Amino acid sequence: MDERPADTTIRTTCPYCGVGCGVLATPRPDGSVAIAGDPAHPANFGRLCSKGSALGETLGLEERLLFPTIAGARANWDDALSRVAERFTATIAEHGRDSVAFYVSGQLLTEDYYIANKLMKGFIGSANIDTNSRLCMASSVAGHRRAFGSDTVPGTYEDLEQADLIVLVGSNLAWCHPVLYQRIAAAKAARPQMKIVLVDPRRTASADLADLHLPIAADGDTALFAGLLPFLAEAGAIHCDYVARHTDGFVEALRRARGMRLPHVAEATGLDSRQVQAFYELFARTEKVVTVYSQGVNQSVTGTDKVNAIINCHLATGRIGRPGMGPFSVTGQPNAMGGREVGGMANMLAAHMAIEDPAHRSLVRDFWDARAMPDRAGLKAVDMFRAVADGRIRALWIIGTNPVVSMPDADAVKAALAACPFVVVSDVVARNDTLPFADVALPAAAWGEKDGTVTNSERRISRQRPFLPLPGEARPDWAIIADVARRMGFADGFSHASAADVFDEHARLSAYGNAGERDFDIGALAGLDQCGYDALPPVQWPQPRTVTSHGSGDASVEATAALANDGSRFFGDGDFFHPDRRARFVAVDVAPRRRLGKGRFLLNTGRVRDHWHTMTRTGRSARLSAHVAEPFVDVHPADAAAQGIAEAGLVTVRSGIGAAIVRCRTTDRQSRGSVFVPMHWSDEFSGSGRIDAVVAPAVDPVSGQPGLKATEVSIAPF
Ligand code: SF4
Repeated sequence: MDERPADTTIRTTCPYCGVGCGVLATPRPDGSVAIAGDPAHPANFGRLCSKGSALGETLGLEERLLFPTIAGARANWDDALSRVAERFTATIAEHGRDSVAFYVSGQLLTEDYYIANKLMKGFIGSANIDTNSRLCMASSVAGHRRAFGSDTVPGTYEDLEQADLIVLVGSNLAWCHPVLYQRIAAAKAARPQMKIVLVDPRRTASADLADLHLPIAADGDTALFAGLLPFLAEAGAIHCDYVARHTDGFVEALRRARGMRLPHVAEATGLDSRQVQAFYELFARTEKVVTVYSQGVNQSVTGTDKVNAIINCHLATGRIGRPGMGPFSVTGQPNAMGGREVGGMANMLAAHMAIEDPAHRSLVRDFWDARAMPDRAGLKAVDMFRAVADGRIRALWIIGTNPVVSMPDADAVKAALAACPFVVVSDVVARNDTLPFADVALPAAAWGEKDGTVTNSERRISRQRPFLPLPGEARPDWAIIADVARRMGFADGFSHASAADVFDEHARLSAYGNAGERDFDIGALAGLDQCGYDALPPVQWPQPRTVTSHGSGDASVEATAALANDGSRFFGDGDFFHPDRRARFVAVDVAPRRRLGKGRFLLNTGRVRDHWHTMTRTGRSARLSAHVAEPFVDVHPADAAAQGIAEAGLVTVRSGIGAAIVRCRTTDRQSRGSVFVPMHWSDEFSGSGRIDAVVAPAVDPVSGQPGLKATEVSIAPF
């Protein structure tokens, strides 16, 4: 890398959201880096949002962690890695395999995720590896698996442009997936007859493009889509042939939803029944419908049922896996999908296989020549930190994430880390709210230095390529983890020489013992040499298994380039991944709408347009920070008046577990009875506004995803 001349433009991928935009990065002789959208990347065709276009402003080394530390003092790599290996080995020897855990991140590259998962599941022999993706899209994973038999996103971004109706559910695409929003806006400008319905308690920026906004009560989505199913039946919109030939469970799902007539739906959702009817009629008569959903659906204690209620309506109408049709989960993080592919969650095995399935365990064990394999799921994020708190987990490695800010009940997480006998933190920054709890801190390579792959929301694998030298003593995450594995006595499984080697092993595992019956096979990309890996264009997987071997770099580049824009879709032909190849309707129950007492509010949390996660990168850009300068709470003007809160006054937002102080912004975009606070701010960056210390740690019983959008709180002048 050091020899690369300045002004060489490198194709890479944005490290922020799950849209996965292609980026052109050009290092300049003065040390700056010019950033532009990649016109050839099929996710963005040259577009970038405010965050992506400011990437060049966030690359300085001022705040970087540049060398390992032990107990806060500078250490060398040898001592630091040996300390980690010795303490993990000793903890396992004394307290068992399940007394250790990894908490990783959707910011990691697929190669990092793969090595961490291999070490924990195949060699330590525990499934205690979970990820902050648990906070992001675990309910979509669970819903997909229930309905399709696999965690497969059926559609492509092109579907959003080809649809005649887009239903955005709990998704502020305008701010959280801006380039997808731009693509939809352009499509609607070209075809004004395209309709957009926004289902969201807030009138977000995405409402500006919507023909109809349904200001639904928190967690009313299951009721809305459960009620749609009998409406579709009575409207004659059921695709009876598709349902009969390719699905099971329709009759029971319909029977369970029969009671959801318009008045019941209106009651359960807090919507006007005429609005509900208008939406239902539009859905019933429009063939090309895409339902896009993200955190408003996923981050809920009923998130998995919400996902299945949506999928039920697409299965019932056969509107899935065909151009302009389908349910579409858009992921928050840049590599939530890649993490899913390599089993980076506590209830998954590598290559999307099932940890509970003895045949899958045996296959992965064989391939890895593993020392030990867990036979049951490990602890999911919220339970993992509870286990740290009560002493069941005694050694924890946190990689690329900041749980003291981002986990619900964040003060309990803080206390758990303070009490944990051994905490390792790998990060790129020298300062965040989690690092003070690290016994050992390890400097990781950052975006621009890292080398590997990510997978975006439409299943497209793209390369993140390095264009800057590794600073100080920073190393890639996969290499750090592999080094610890070797020091734990697992040298045989962790001798990879490069990220390309790791990717190759991942690709080969996905095809191992697989006669095409699983959907995650990227075996056709196995055997890429370094040249082929370096040149790998954005490729959507899975693909037809017609390209089976790639020996030379040039041949592989040509073959994958031919597939890059293929736009593969799933399930239009009714071929699902349950053993009988049929989809499942899931009969869902509708909970009554939550009613709160006087002076009580539901706290909704989320993002602002120009910040990302806990601001460790975007907080360094003055331009991005200027959009919203400080943490705030959005309150309806009438609610603010009733609580004696003035515009711009300081407000205490308090729940049963904690409190945060933020600035009041009154707005009628906020529904009465609910308030919104962004999740970005932390004690480290602002001294207040760490809102996840207020958010209750209740989780969806199926997915384990926390309900980050409906904690009961009070608000009062500070
Ligand atoms: Fe990056 Fe997402 Fe913006 Fe694209 S839309 S530039 S991936 S933050």
